[in-house]
Amino acid sequence: MASLVIKDLHASIGDKPIVKGLSLTINSGEVHAIMGPNGTGKSTLAKVIAGHPDYTVTGGDVLLDGKSVLEQEADERARAGLFLAFQYPSEIPGVSIANFLRAAVQARMAEGEEIDAAAYYKRLYARMDMLKIDRKFTSRSVNEGFSGGEKKRCEILQMAILEPKFALMDETDSGLDIDALRIVSEGVNTLRGPGLGVLMITHYQRLLNYIVPDFVHVLYDGRIVKSGDKSLALELEAKGYDWVKRELAAANA
Ligand code: ADP
Ligand code: MG
Repeated sequence: MASLVIKDLHASIGDKPIVKGLSLTINSGEVHAIMGPNGTGKSTLAKVIAGHPDYTVTGGDVLLDGKSVLEQEADERARAGLFLAFQYPSEIPGVSIANFLRAAVQARMAEGEEIDAAAYYKRLYARMDMLKIDRKFTSRSVNEGFSGGEKKRCEILQMAILEPKFALMDETDSGLDIDALRIVSEGVNTLRGPGLGVLMITHYQRLLNYIVPDFVHVLYDGRIVKSGDKSLALELEAKGYDWVKRELAAANA
């Protein structure tokens, strides 16, 4: 079983601390949801774990299967089994999804090892069938002119092909329409299983009606201030975040 342990993590952008002592353990097979008001550091957390170069870790650690990933570049972390789904994925005109995914798989292989084209396509088509994705889809250029739903379909297919140990999914503010929401949920629910841990970041409770999390955490001012099961998400939906803020203020008084 794999584990992703975030230990008293502190991270800044420039001189501005954003993540301020955050601890969280995710085991494979678990789906954790992180919720919280805008601007509290949810996206920053995902990017710091994935190794985004704009952020500086000033304290704490991130351990994948007991080994710190902080000295690793983003691509090494990806090879080690971390997958970050982008909130705003880039367009890559002229590069088909099939070739893009093939390059991604190749990049994960040891130096000198060559991808077997027949085996790759067999695997790609098997994953596409599993996710009910039309074969025509992979001849299109990556994200070029895609609808929100198509971008999500491309993202889920990447995840299915790369088989990460942990997927970090930042869906906040992405304004997922119903179509996109359904694609993400069906995809995650299909891929969900003992070999995959998921960190699902969302501002809205709605997504969690479709992807039922094992744990829910509230992020506020760079820390996890409350954790619970799926009922916490419903409580937040009903009462908003002010309730959590008041509880914190009372605890600190
Ligand atoms: P959330 O995803 O919870 O809405 P973010 O992690 O995006 O929050 O942002 C947390 C804080 O960090 C915000 O105050 C935001 O303005 C700031 N921030 C995020 N990215 C940058 C950046 N690249 N440069 C400067 N400030 C940033
Ligand atoms: Mg965000």
